[in-house]
Amino acid sequence: MLNDILRLFSPGTSASAAASDDMQSIGRSKPAFENHEAQEKRYTTCYMCACRCGIEVTVEKNQVRFIRGNPNHPINKGVLCAKGNAGIMKQLSPAKLRKPLMRKPGTERGAGEFVEVEWDEALDLLTERLRHIRATDPRKLAFFTGRDQMQALTGLWAQQFGTINWAAHGGFCSVNMAAAGLYSIGQSFWEFGDPDWDRAKYFMLWGVAEDHASNPIKIGIEKLKRRGAKFVAVNPVRTGYQAIADEWVPIRPGTDAMLALSMCHVLLSRDLVDWDYLGRYTNAPFLVVNTPGEPGDGLIARDADGRPLVWDASQEAFVNGTTPGVEAAMFGEYTLPDGRKARTVMTLIAEKYLDEQYSPERAAEVCGLQPETIERLALEMAHVAFKETIEIECEWTDWAGRKHDRFIGRPVAMHAMRGISAHSNGFQTCRALHLLQVFLGTIDVPGGHRAKAPFPRHIPPPVKPARDTAPNTPLSSPPLGFPTSPEDLVVDDQGRPLRIDKAYSWEAPLANHGLMHMVITNAVNGDPYPIDTLILFMANMAWNSTMNTNSVQDMLREKNADGEYKLPFLVVVDAFHSETVNFADLVLPDTTYLERHDAISMLDRPISEPDAACDSIRSPVLTPDRDVRPWQEVLVDLAGRLGFPAFVGEGGKPKYSGYTDFIARWEKAPGIGFLAGWRGSDGSKSMKGEPNPGQWEKYIENQGFFQHHLPEHMRFFRFANRDYLDWAKEVGFNASAEPIIMELYSEVLQKFRLAGQGLYDGPLPPETVDAERLVRYFDPLPQFYVPLEEQRVEGQDYPFHAINQRPMHMYHSWDSQNVWLRQITAQNFLFMNKARGESLGLVDEGWVWVESHNGRIRGQVKFMEGCQADTVWTWNAIGKQSGAWGLSKDAPESQRGFLMNHLISELLPKDGELADEQRRLTNSDPVTGQAAWYDLKVRIYPATAEESGTSWPQFTAVQPLPGAPAPLTEIRYQTHEAVHLRRSLSDILKRR
Ligand code: SF4
Repeated sequence: MLNDILRLFSPGTSASAAASDDMQSIGRSKPAFENHEAQEKRYTTCYMCACRCGIEVTVEKNQVRFIRGNPNHPINKGVLCAKGNAGIMKQLSPAKLRKPLMRKPGTERGAGEFVEVEWDEALDLLTERLRHIRATDPRKLAFFTGRDQMQALTGLWAQQFGTINWAAHGGFCSVNMAAAGLYSIGQSFWEFGDPDWDRAKYFMLWGVAEDHASNPIKIGIEKLKRRGAKFVAVNPVRTGYQAIADEWVPIRPGTDAMLALSMCHVLLSRDLVDWDYLGRYTNAPFLVVNTPGEPGDGLIARDADGRPLVWDASQEAFVNGTTPGVEAAMFGEYTLPDGRKARTVMTLIAEKYLDEQYSPERAAEVCGLQPETIERLALEMAHVAFKETIEIECEWTDWAGRKHDRFIGRPVAMHAMRGISAHSNGFQTCRALHLLQVFLGTIDVPGGHRAKAPFPRHIPPPVKPARDTAPNTPLSSPPLGFPTSPEDLVVDDQGRPLRIDKAYSWEAPLANHGLMHMVITNAVNGDPYPIDTLILFMANMAWNSTMNTNSVQDMLREKNADGEYKLPFLVVVDAFHSETVNFADLVLPDTTYLERHDAISMLDRPISEPDAACDSIRSPVLTPDRDVRPWQEVLVDLAGRLGFPAFVGEGGKPKYSGYTDFIARWEKAPGIGFLAGWRGSDGSKSMKGEPNPGQWEKYIENQGFFQHHLPEHMRFFRFANRDYLDWAKEVGFNASAEPIIMELYSEVLQKFRLAGQGLYDGPLPPETVDAERLVRYFDPLPQFYVPLEEQRVEGQDYPFHAINQRPMHMYHSWDSQNVWLRQITAQNFLFMNKARGESLGLVDEGWVWVESHNGRIRGQVKFMEGCQADTVWTWNAIGKQSGAWGLSKDAPESQRGFLMNHLISELLPKDGELADEQRRLTNSDPVTGQAAWYDLKVRIYPATAEESGTSWPQFTAVQPLPGAPAPLTEIRYQTHEAVHLRRSLSDILKRR
């Protein structure tokens, strides 16, 4: 070989002659390369999942040639996952909607018979319908969105319309995680805060599915592993991230709060708590009134100005606990000047968690673990936090003006998500995790859990949910907010729910993201009232994004005695032919993510990093080849047509020419808009400044993203960092620059609990069932309780916990249409512990029935070692309705795939003998209304030979849409002639 190379380039031998010889010698013509001149690289943001990585898309003749990760982007730093690469096939999906559709006159809803209409006709019809609703009773429009990334826009739109019936998918995803964080530490996991991947020495991952936060977590875990940090995964299932953990903790589903609180027990009993951190930054020393059975019991003792009292040991006096330098007693009971007794929060904490009910022995029984494991994990974390402390020399000033010469870090980090959140005890579970983090002093410190702008925020953020509606009138505040007392509930004078999903009612008082899983049920039942129109955007509510799929489909078909549908008008906005499209009266086809503009804003679901406030855009890299419009463009259009005050100017004329104009010019407050980069008339300002008409171009020039790096002295302890707090107020993140005091003890919860006890000086719940729930579940300190479904079904009848997750290479329902990703997973199985399955006489890949209190399904079982013995699980949303998503009618997704959703009810099982007299309660967390997907209990038994081979239930096949291409049996991505894999050496050396 070396001789050949020397021959090729030796003097007197021209390279071309040598190449030609070489070609001939291998008997092939020179391979044809692509014409790079005809290609263009464009930058935008991936939307194959919610991570929102930066991508570089190579485009040729309005086709995607390939997609790469953008190495400069703050989120993914060039990394691209399987989904991101497969964006090409999403763009080529035969399931893309092509034109607005209306249900064919005379056909039944759900039959899937449509006629194509022009956009003008569709929007005229919708505008007139919405105009009438807005002029009469705006609540009759319910607008719910799925995994969209434009909630700041859709929320504003709903507020301007005047309907309180708006929410996004958070209520059935992870609102417990978000709400618990925002009511405890002013931030949370995921978009709110991140592990300090660069410094953590110990990392504990709780309940994180393998599709979650894909590239950022992978990049982070790689950093941990390279540094030799310990990685512990708490999860009933060992796949994905858990598969590469140093230690897997196979916890029983729904018991994470017990584990976390038992670790708190261990830390307290060994005096391994960061007392200084607790005293300075939390409400641990605040005094709590102790007058059981009397009004005011359990509230924070306050001075005449409403400031929290502590006992100052040096002055031997009650003083304002927010006074700098106060030497507040951490423990003790005191008699207040008015004669009432009061104890410190920390005294209550110690009493509660040192109790034997939280001992490792007791927790081990509940969680299915060993007591030694629980104790060891707690001690390991304490060791790293207190013996392997990090110090960063950097002068910073705390909220009281005290100078510090360094940041002290406790390098224990955690991340948690839906696995702990999607239970009916998830809110308290997430609070328990935060308590553990705070005990170790790890919130927003080097090596710990770091906030991401605009977080941390004050506890809770000072926005109250709108309640009052009036014709043709915008709401006075956003539909979603953060109640701090029963007065903030969205109920009428009799205490009855005012929202269609009953969010912020006595049944779900802190429902910060709404209860999307209840909308169709409540609307069809007219409870609390019937509505006229439901708009669903990107939400597959007739299939995998709903509980009780079969009955929801039936409800959508249900009619009144007069023959009218109980839910009169359903508008579905989507880019693809989902199962829900089939039930629409009007279908508005959206573009793909490669065909539109988007603002990924700090007013919305931010993409910031701990060291930098960030936002980004999407800009079209392709021109749609169909008659589709971006939904955000349509929303701005509708807002102008309907005359929303924020969207029209002089004479009621639309103020904005379209979405990009709206994003560039609309201001939430002077100088603050959707995008924080290149503000000011000449683009010279960051974070705050007048609108810049050239802002989009600036983003495009900068590869689609903006970063504002925080100076080092503002990167930690932000809840108490003077310079950060001042800046956060200046740029509109927070309304004040007051310090953010972390709330280990939640006075908000206690107010609701007092209401349940009839001791609250304000609104009280009218029904006993709600009052009892407030007393049981609104503990102001984190608590563990058995999930609600489990309380109502017999354990011996339903011995297994049933949970689900998405595979790493897919994301919700979108990706089972993607031909590349389908090749990896086109059928789901019911996974279970091998030994447990064999003990039941089941066989690997045999067909089984899975039965819950709500119904049964049939699928194929698959054994694995890495599954907690009492747990079964499956991939969610692989199972499809035959014919949907452009798949052939006999696709494995519909014939062998199955949905667990059929087993889950949106209502709790009836409760004993009084069942018929009781109101049915939602299958949700009693604090936040979060859908309790993972509370499901099931039994499993083999299917007969005759029953095997096909999943059950099966549904009528979805009809093809007008103009849709026939389902493809084979799709090849071959935009170009394949380049010969075998090339001559000279060709390799000469051509790139
Ligand atoms: S993690 Fe993958 S799918 Fe998600 S945004 Fe990033 S590249 Fe796209």
